[in-house]
Amino acid sequence: MLIIHASTELAPIAKAGGLGDVVYGLSKALIQEGHSAQVILPKYSFIKNTELQNLTLISKKYIQSPFAQGSEVSFWKATYDNISLILVEPHAPSDLFQKESIYGHNNDITRFLLFSFLAVEYLTTHTLPPFILHLHDWPTAFIAYLYSRPLPYKPKIILTIHNILHQGRCDAHYFQQLSLQDPSAFIDPKYPHLINLLKSGIIYADHVTTVSPTYAQEITTSSGGHYLDPLLYSLRRKLTGILNGIDLTYWDPSQDPHIAVKYPSKFQLEQTLDAKAKNKKYFQKHFHLKESSAPLFVCISRLDEQKGPHLIAHAIHKILELGGQCAILGKIVDPMLNDLFHELKNIYSNNRNFCFHNIFDEDQAHKLYAAADFILIPSLFEPCGLTQMIGMRYFTIPIARKTGGLADTVHDINDPSCPESKKVGIVFSDMDTKELEEALKKAFLLYHNKNHLNQILKNLSIQDFSWKTSAKKYLEIYKA
Ligand code: ADP
Repeated sequence: MLIIHASTELAPIAKAGGLGDVVYGLSKALIQEGHSAQVILPKYSFIKNTELQNLTLISKKYIQSPFAQGSEVSFWKATYDNISLILVEPHAPSDLFQKESIYGHNNDITRFLLFSFLAVEYLTTHTLPPFILHLHDWPTAFIAYLYSRPLPYKPKIILTIHNILHQGRCDAHYFQQLSLQDPSAFIDPKYPHLINLLKSGIIYADHVTTVSPTYAQEITTSSGGHYLDPLLYSLRRKLTGILNGIDLTYWDPSQDPHIAVKYPSKFQLEQTLDAKAKNKKYFQKHFHLKESSAPLFVCISRLDEQKGPHLIAHAIHKILELGGQCAILGKIVDPMLNDLFHELKNIYSNNRNFCFHNIFDEDQAHKLYAAADFILIPSLFEPCGLTQMIGMRYFTIPIARKTGGLADTVHDINDPSCPESKKVGIVFSDMDTKELEEALKKAFLLYHNKNHLNQILKNLSIQDFSWKTSAKKYLEIYKA
């Protein structure tokens, strides 16, 4: 089977978040299962040609498009880590993909509508059917509609929603030259004078997936659907939640070049405890924390409202009060949160049980996963979440709020309805501080109950978060 992803991201060469990881991880897993995977991607100027293999120009032609004035477009092919790529390069307007970052530009709608249109042009003229077309989030969702026009071949179209918060709302003038059949299918449910690109994808795709079973259910409700819930509820028969995987080769504590002491490749309790203790000691030394055997709690996260910043701040106070250590690796992406975290930094500036690094640092993240005893994830909502899965792979016990993918992957150590081997973390439900405090106290008790702790570490060693499992579920949908 040939599966083609039309995507605005591919990790690590063009990554802004989880979407890029999914396109990369899923493509690799599909190839390992014996299928062909291809990714159509804008040719961003920040992707260095030297990062790609076999970069070759396929064609350069003039294309008239309804979303920008006609221009010359080059289609390139290349490979990256055995994944075959098609790179789309419109030569005018010149500021479309000549930017430092993928999103956040005032012409994002034009950029991605044009990319969507050109991707369909490419597929129609250069790709032999049959193939499956897999779209990702609002930037490529409109492709599902473009394929509803009379074209020689219509592939089966899957749309994955990675985060329903972002819907691609735009003014109707973009569509003046494209006579939309049934314009009501595009009207934004919150702002009826705007068009909603994600909505058009949901309607016209053959199947819609999202990145965890619980999130699939949540987005059909008014608390999680951001106004698209009535539509998603009515179409729930074609909606499936499939948990993301993680790259087990990249996140491998037995091989990880970033960490001071490697973990055993096959689980052995004594060696695992030893590796954890040594990595913790290394971290304390290099990041100026007190050398201590107190439990180390970490939070590795971009900091915005989604990630529960007020609960993170509250947890810091409580952990220190209970005698633990706390390290936050958290890039503040919402300026409204500057005060909250700078105040914390000031209050604890002389406290050697606390550190806060306001950066995005891959190397530090690895070191923290390896060193920590607990990882804190009090998200308001979490479509899938990766840090709990990566944490578990490094024998770091998640403390998570029961939402989205966290609810599907973190099962409480005292949950009577859960099989013993699946009990891997501490779960709380409400966004209030009381439940969070109870969860933290439970973590301290667990940390000091060695028999129980050892059992949970053993449970962590047998969890399967590989892409192989997720890819098989996608394949069922592709084949259905
Ligand atoms: P998001 O909603 O940000 O996509 P996920 O849990 O799905 O959250 O993925 C977060 C990814 O980003 C993980 O790989 C995590 O290790 C990484 N990450 C988050 N914050 C940082 C940081 N400050 N420094 C390094 N890596 C980070």
